[in-house]
Amino acid sequence: MPIFTLPNLPYSYDALEPHIDARTVEIHYDRHHRTYLNNLNASLEGNENIVTGKTIEEILANVEQVPTEIRQKVINQGGGYANHNLYWAQLSPNGGGFPTGKLAKAINEQFTDFNKFQEAVTNQAKTIFGSGYAWVVVDNASKKLEVMQTANQNSPLSVGKTPIMTIDVWEHAYYLKYQNLRPTHIDAIWKLFNWDQIGKFYEKALK
Ligand code: MN
Repeated sequence: MPIFTLPNLPYSYDALEPHIDARTVEIHYDRHHRTYLNNLNASLEGNENIVTGKTIEEILANVEQVPTEIRQKVINQGGGYANHNLYWAQLSPNGGGFPTGKLAKAINEQFTDFNKFQEAVTNQAKTIFGSGYAWVVVDNASKKLEVMQTANQNSPLSVGKTPIMTIDVWEHAYYLKYQNLRPTHIDAIWKLFNWDQIGKFYEKALK
């Protein structure tokens, strides 16, 4: 009985065309995301007691409580699982445009305007060396929006931040279509952000 399961992709493989091609979505979701999940469940075999009843987010936020012998596996595979759960949920074939409501207000207050915000997030994504993610997070203490980057599959949850939006810059996220042109992919993904959903993540992170 697996502890964690793969969330359904909320659209078809070709729904994010032309910005993200169908083959990339299929491989990214059905192989990469699924493999992180399977590896996470495998790494937890025999340690079910420490995770039963907890979300992957709760586990990553308290990762120092995971036994040392499996901790790095949970950081890598659990991070890969959780990061991709957020990644797919925040995208939509009907995405793009601008945030509204409380999220829009916070962006304007903290980043001056949407363009400055977009520039800050894009800059985080474009300056990652190697594999990792750019993030928009809510700091759990100050409740302020922040932008940041993490390497590998490290989650902002493990450093006191709640992620609400992300750009995956691992090569598997774009290489079939964009090859070495990572910056072009980063610019294109803005056409896909589901601001209604990201706004809900934001309001949940404030609680
Ligand atoms: Mn990925």
